[in-house]
Order: sequence, then structure tokens, then C-alpha cells
Amino acid sequence: MDLGLKGKRAIVCASSRGLGKGCAEALAAEGVDLVLNGRTPGTLEATAEAIRAAHGVSVETVPGDIATDDVQARLVEAVGTPHILVNNAGGPPPGDYTDWDRADWQAALDANMLTPIMLMKAVLPGMIDRGWGRIVNITSGAVKAPIPVLGLSNGARAGLTGFVAGLSRQVAKDGVTINNLLPGPFDTDRIAQTLEGAARAQGRTVDEIKEERKAQNPTRRFGEADEFGAYCAFLCSRQAGYVTGQNLLMDGGAYPGTL
Ligand code: NAP
Repeated sequence: MDLGLKGKRAIVCASSRGLGKGCAEALAAEGVDLVLNGRTPGTLEATAEAIRAAHGVSVETVPGDIATDDVQARLVEAVGTPHILVNNAGGPPPGDYTDWDRADWQAALDANMLTPIMLMKAVLPGMIDRGWGRIVNITSGAVKAPIPVLGLSNGARAGLTGFVAGLSRQVAKDGVTINNLLPGPFDTDRIAQTLEGAARAQGRTVDEIKEERKAQNPTRRFGEADEFGAYCAFLCSRQAGYVTGQNLLMDGGAYPGTL
């Protein structure tokens, strides 16, 4: 299926590894020119070069922390008016509510709520003028069912979700869609860190915990970043113009609700 994206331009935040990289690769495969971001310049450049070589699209890079005003401004400057914005950042650390002070909450809100809101604010006027835009926010299955040790994530992402529910309806008449894509367990560095933490806490091996977690999922496996990227690319497509304001779970059926 031709997704109608050839020649369009996208900002993909936090995209040097993992789910953001999966989205960048899937968009590049559709002929989208990219601006990528991540904090580690070497990893970011290696990803950019691999995507250029594989897909022949233009790939620029803006290294640095996506939660800073400077990096957000440089991303927008690099692309002009993007057709597509994929919001993403690293997830907040695990812990317990008794551990977190105001500064911890501020950091989580900055990265996982306020950064995507500020980037949407920056790109929406151009998308509205053009009469076409696609925004995908990578959030978490924790929005549907909270993960107890990820309270900072549960809270910050809920704030973004509430805001997007209203904003997406406001800009729908201008040809702009905004959707949230909610990953369950995906085989990335993020889940590897979570597994290591659980293994240490329980005095077991990472492999034991990993196999146990996979067995708990209806598919008996973790998702892959390329599967996630393909869903993201579809949400950015011409054909997905009537899908907006949705929270789309991609978790191998882990969430047990009927609806
Ligand atoms: P990952 O494998 O750890 O990759 C994170 C990517 O984001 C890397 O490219 C990293 O590069 C970059 N990054 C992290 N913090 C950044 C920052 N402040 N500024 C700029 N770039 C940053 O993580 P992932 O699994 O792809 O997860 C992506 C998002 O989905 C996270 O918010 C995570 O919490 C959420 N999520 C993941 C899962 C899962 O199972 N994987 C499940 C639910 C939710 P640098 O480190 O070089 O900056």
C-alpha cells in the first residue's frame, strides 16, 4: 500500500534507538525526509547514516536533550514546517511515590508531557496553514492500566493524554490528526533496563524474568520496533486522515479489557 508520504518531512524525537528509531525507519521507507534526535551524538549519527544508506532520504540530526527549549527550537528550525511530528522521550525512572520529590515530578512532566505539548504548539500553525499534518505521540500502555513502579510515567502521560483529547478535536477541521500510540512490552534497551532492575530486586537472572514476562503476554513474546514503526507510519498516512484523538494500544493483547 502506498501511504502517500513520499517527499514529506518529519521530526522524530528521541529516535537514535528503540521505538523512535523504528518509527524513523518506517517513515524513511515511505520516502519521508527526516530530522532525528537523541542525546548521544555517535549513536544518533550511526542511525542517521544507516537510514540514509538504506532508503536514500535526507536525514538531519539534532543532538541533545529533547526536554530543553534549545533542542526543541533547533529541531523545528532544521525542518521548517514539518508534515509529521513524532513525539518521544526516554521514560521516567521506576520507583515508589515515597521516593519522588518535586524535582523528580518536574523532570517527568517536562520530558513526557510538556515537551510534546511545546513541540505541538511550535509545528501546528504551519500544519494548519498547509491544511495537512500528522502528529503521533509515543506514550505507554501505562495510560490504560497503570504500572505501579512507573508512577511518574503513569502521571505525566495521563496529563498529555488529557490535553491531546481536546486539542486533536480542535485541529481536525484543518486536516491535522493527533493520535497517541501506546506501547506494551517491546524488545528495546528500555525494557532491558527494566528487566535488569527486576532481576536485581528479586535475586533472579535477567533471562528468567524475561521468559516469565514473555509468557505472560498472549503472543508469548515482546513486540519489535519495526512493528511499532509500521503502525506509526500508517497513522501518518493519507489513508489515516479520519483517525484522530485516539489512544491506540499495541501490546500483543496484554490489556485484558473487552473494549
Ligand atoms: P529506548 O530503547 O531506551 O530508546 C530511547 C531513545 O530515546 C534513544 O534513542 C535515546 O537516545 C533517546 N532519548 C532518551 N531520552 C532522551 C532525551 N531526554 N532527549 C533526547 N533523546 C532521548 O526506549 P524505548 O523502548 O524506545 O522507549 C521509548 C518510549 O516508549 C519511552 O518513553 C518509554 O518509556 C516508552 N515505552 C516503552 C516501552 C517498551 O517496552 N519498550 C513500553 C512502554 C512505554 P539517548 O539515550 O542517546 O538520548
